[in-house]
Amino acid sequence: SKVPTITLNNGVEMPQLGYGVWQVPDDQAAEAVSSALEVGYRSIDTAAIYENEEGTGKALTTSGIPRDELFVTTKLWNSASETWTRDNVLREFDASLSKLGLDYVDLYLIHWPRAMRDDYLTIWRTFAEIAESGRARAVGVSNFQPAHLERLLAESPLVPAVNQIELHPYFQQAGLREFDARHGIVTEAWSPLGQGRGLLEDPALVRIGAKHGKSAAQVVLRWHLQVGNVAIPKSVTPSRIRENFDVLGFELDADDLAALAGLDKGTRLGPDPDEFD
Ligand code: NAD
Repeated sequence: SKVPTITLNNGVEMPQLGYGVWQVPDDQAAEAVSSALEVGYRSIDTAAIYENEEGTGKALTTSGIPRDELFVTTKLWNSASETWTRDNVLREFDASLSKLGLDYVDLYLIHWPRAMRDDYLTIWRTFAEIAESGRARAVGVSNFQPAHLERLLAESPLVPAVNQIELHPYFQQAGLREFDARHGIVTEAWSPLGQGRGLLEDPALVRIGAKHGKSAAQVVLRWHLQVGNVAIPKSVTPSRIRENFDVLGFELDADDLAALAGLDKGTRLGPDPDEFD
C-alpha cells in the first residue's frame, strides 16, 4: 500500500513517512538514500549541517525517479557565529541546492530558533522570498516552541507549513502538537524512534508488536502515522530501512493507542530549543 500524505497549509502534499539522514557520512549517503528509494521511500530529510547533501543529491538525481515524485527537505544551519541576514540566508540556500544538484526543494526549514540571536524573523522573511520564487515548494521551521511561533505569526503573514520537533512515545509533546494543529502547522517528528535506545525495548511496545506480528519500531512508526505526525526514521541498515517502511498494512487498536499514550515521560533526548545556540 501507498504512504499516506498530509496536505500542507499551501496545498502541497507531503508524505507522512520519510527517511532521515542525520549522521550518515557524505560518502555513504548515496548508498543509504538509494536503498531507501528502492524500498519505496520518496521523502528524504537532510540538512546543511549533516554535510551529506551531495551524497543525498547524487542518489536522488541518478535514481530515475521523476522529480515530482520525490519530496526533498533540507534545513538552514543558522547556528553559526554570525547573525543571519537576507544575503547569507540566500547564499546558504543556493549552496544547499547546488550540493543537492536540484533546482528546487520541497521543504526548507529553519533548523533552530536561536531566539537569543534575534534573527529568525529576518530569516523567515527571506524564506518567504524563497518560497515566492518557487525554489522551495514549502517553508517551515524546526525546534520552534509556541513563543517562537507566536512571534512569527504576529510579525509575518506566512504561516510555517511544518514544525519539525523531537517527538516519540517517551516525549509526546501534546501541547506543542496542539499549538501547531490550531495554527495549520503540520508537526513532523525527529528522532521518531527515540534514537532506537531504550524506547524500542519498552515491554509495552514489544507486547503490542507481538500481538500484530510487528517489531517495536514498526509499532512506534505506525503510532506516528495514526496520530497524524510526519515521521522520518533513520537507519543505514538495509533490513531496518525496509522494516521501517513496512508499517502501512496494519492498524493499532484503541487499547494499543491508550497504552502508547501512557508511555510519555516528558523528557528530551536532544537539546532544549530555548537554550540551544
Ligand atoms: P531515530 O529515532 O530515527 O533513530 C535512529 C536510530 O534508531 C538508528 O540509528 C538505529 O540505531 C535505530 N534504529 C532504526 N531503525 C531501527 C529498527 N527498525 N530497529 C531497531 N533499531 C532501529 O533518530 P534520529 O536519526 O535522531 O532521527 C531521525 C531523523 O530526524 C534524522 O536522520 C534527521 O533527518 C532528523 N533529525 C532532525 C533534527 C532537527 O533538529 N531538526 C534532530 C535530530 C534528527
